[in-house]
Amino acid sequence: MMIETKGLKKSFDHTEVIKGIDAQVQQGQVIVIIGPSGGGKSTFLRMLNMLEQPTAGTVTFEGQNITDLPANKLDTVREKMGMVFQSFNLFPNMDVLANVALAPQRVKGSSQKAASEQAMTLLDQVGLADKAHAYPASLSGGQQQRVAIARALAMGPDVMLFDEPTSALDPEMVGEVLKVMQGLAKEGMTMVVVTHEMGFARKVADEVWFMDGGVLAEKGTPEQIFDHPQNERTQSFLAKVL
Ligand code: ADP
Ligand code: MG
Repeated sequence: MMIETKGLKKSFDHTEVIKGIDAQVQQGQVIVIIGPSGGGKSTFLRMLNMLEQPTAGTVTFEGQNITDLPANKLDTVREKMGMVFQSFNLFPNMDVLANVALAPQRVKGSSQKAASEQAMTLLDQVGLADKAHAYPASLSGGQQQRVAIARALAMGPDVMLFDEPTSALDPEMVGEVLKVMQGLAKEGMTMVVVTHEMGFARKVADEVWFMDGGVLAEKGTPEQIFDHPQNERTQSFLAKVL
């Protein structure tokens, strides 16, 4: 078991937006979370690595309850959980290679040579070896997001969390990012992916979770969720997006 949540809840200003989620992610699994906007997907994802502190319940990561860890211990846990957001947030004043090589040097004490070599390998993996010395502003959105993925991978995470990684991209760039993610899944990376890309969910997910109104309303294989949804809210959501 890689991640387990029990009775996970979150309130903002007395409004409960996550209403008690019990969920498990096994090592090597790809979980895709779908559901309407405002349903709590981002809040749930951010609680998995304590970017958002739960109001109640627990998150266990690799056997350790991380819910109430002090900040210094949480940093170590977060190194094992790579996160990629809708916005790429690359450092604009550094070239692509330096962006990817920075954290391993700062956080893990890797030598510049070792970090740069590893960064080149990762850039090759995301198809951007030829852009190593380009600056972020000169790259397309899809290329920047692939650099952001390489940067997250540079810390050697055990799980990758993606929050709508293609939502800010022009349509013609969505495919190149999904392809990189599919490659990661194929190599056995554990992944939790919030996305509206139903084709990706169908093809790559081991399990699809439908979140609505702060609850995990339904989960199942892609076939179960897309072809035979049981929950009325899943059915009406899919009728709108498919
Ligand atoms: P989703 O990612 O599924 O669109 P979110 O997790 O972003 O959903 O939001 C769930 C609910 O929590 C929404 O009603 C949103 O307005 C609310 N919410 C999220 N973050 C905050 C915050 N920092 N402060 C207050 N309300 C928030
Ligand atoms: Mg969201």
